[in-house]
Amino acid sequence: TESTMMDVPLQIRRLLEHGATVHATARIVTATDEEARSVTFADVATRAAGLAAGLRELGVRPGDRVATFMWNNAEHVEAYLGIPAMGCVVHPLNIRLFPEQIAFIANHAADRVVIVDHSLLPGFAKLLPSLKSVRHVVVAGQADLSVLEGTGVGVHDYEKLVAAHLGTVDWPDVDERAAAAMCYTSGTTGNPKGVVYSHRSIYLHAITQSLPDVFALHAHDLLLTVVPQFHVLAWGLPYAAFATGTSLAMPDRFLAPDPLARFIEQVRPTKGAGVPTVWGGLQRHLDENPGTDVSSLTELVVGGSALPPGMLRAYDERGITLLHAWGMTETSPLGTLARPPAGVTGEDARRYRLSQGRFVAPVEARLVGPDGEIVDWDGESVGEVEVRGPWITGAYHGEDDQTSFDGGWLRTGDVGSITPDGYLRLTDRVKDVIKSGGEWISSVDLEGQLMDHPAVAEAAVVAVPDDTWGERPLAAVVLKDGEKAAAPELRDYLAGRVARWQLPERWAVVDEIPKTSVGKFDKKIIRTAYAHDDLN
Ligand code: ADP
Repeated sequence: TESTMMDVPLQIRRLLEHGATVHATARIVTATDEEARSVTFADVATRAAGLAAGLRELGVRPGDRVATFMWNNAEHVEAYLGIPAMGCVVHPLNIRLFPEQIAFIANHAADRVVIVDHSLLPGFAKLLPSLKSVRHVVVAGQADLSVLEGTGVGVHDYEKLVAAHLGTVDWPDVDERAAAAMCYTSGTTGNPKGVVYSHRSIYLHAITQSLPDVFALHAHDLLLTVVPQFHVLAWGLPYAAFATGTSLAMPDRFLAPDPLARFIEQVRPTKGAGVPTVWGGLQRHLDENPGTDVSSLTELVVGGSALPPGMLRAYDERGITLLHAWGMTETSPLGTLARPPAGVTGEDARRYRLSQGRFVAPVEARLVGPDGEIVDWDGESVGEVEVRGPWITGAYHGEDDQTSFDGGWLRTGDVGSITPDGYLRLTDRVKDVIKSGGEWISSVDLEGQLMDHPAVAEAAVVAVPDDTWGERPLAAVVLKDGEKAAAPELRDYLAGRVARWQLPERWAVVDEIPKTSVGKFDKKIIRTAYAHDDLN
């Protein structure tokens, strides 16, 4: 018997139209250096149509890549919706990468147009000559466009382009498997690699992400989206927002703890999403400024690196629930999210919440041991995590490198165990784990313990070469303002919490842990800096 169901393609255009009508009054609130500005979903959709019609007039055709060079703001969401809906591919460029890396990525993707925030224009102007395929630049916000004179590309003002074409677009019907958006991995090794999302993958991801045991998005929520739009499509949240009517609070370039806290006080978001360093910075700001009112916040999703146990507790004490999630550029990114199972409370619940979380239905997972054997989901046995599903990439854009794939599964490079009830617990990344005398030491465990010490603000543990053991751990530690803990004290503290042979011999008290372009500890830099230093 054949199904009697209609075969309707899953399109981003549908999310756009749904948000614009059913959730017409939901809002995108964007931080500025004064009052936050606000626009309704209905207006965002009308403006997205204006943008699409304007781009079409510039000669942009279905399948073309339109890049963005922007912070998180309303215009960036317009690009997220309008560009895929017109059959093109939106490609957020990571503004924090080195110019050569950005040029490599934009050239590799063959970006035809770039939409640039006014505040980023000076840096972008320097970059432009190395972007080979770019024909037009569209500048959002008030800026002196003369810096782009003589570059040979078309230069356009975003507002004028949109205003000239408001409401004039006929959206095409797009194949649900067509490319809609792309992001590059930050390229911790080798060149960055491109992942191309489809309409179908983004649509299914948005619906699943909104579920009560995942982000639990409601039309009454205002979601503080700190995770950058250039990092895995801001975890797909703008699309989920249009699916559910969740309003978005976008911090634009005001990301430091102080302006972020002020933005929270001003617009009163109910939920949030970001990497641990962002919430760690906010936590220290709140400790130092106890009068700050963040009482609107209920839940913050934390992903991208491991959630330190102390941070979970500190936010619990403020009545804010941190929800740990795991994913990667290659997985759109939603893989797991850590809400404890039904009926579990107290210390058990805490253990579940500190795991990376349980897999969502469309993401299938398995663990593979060193000899290629399948490892059981027993909560203890460890293997490399492999996943497959409708929003997991099966290849890299323009690459035939197969080493990241294993017979239809994506090899994540993450190592951990899975409980019988499907909770993932990562011990490390394959490339970060410390191999000492044939045993593996989890850098994540040591970091989590160290960041629990009251004097420690941040801690990163890396492998350094060792003649006897092959590798040994080195701990780089940032102390909180005014604190003075020395290495021996920190070592004693750890001694009560981890096995003796895992204790770092080498310590570095530093002013700052170097961070990657998306705010994670940059262990490559730390490893290189200390590989040959004898610190003790
Ligand atoms: P990059 O590899 O440049 O950091 P991604 O943002 O795609 O780019 O990073 C994905 C990786 O981040 C995962 O493979 C994993 O190692 C790490 N990661 C993501 N979420 C978590 C988490 N909750 N706990 C520990 N590690 C995480």
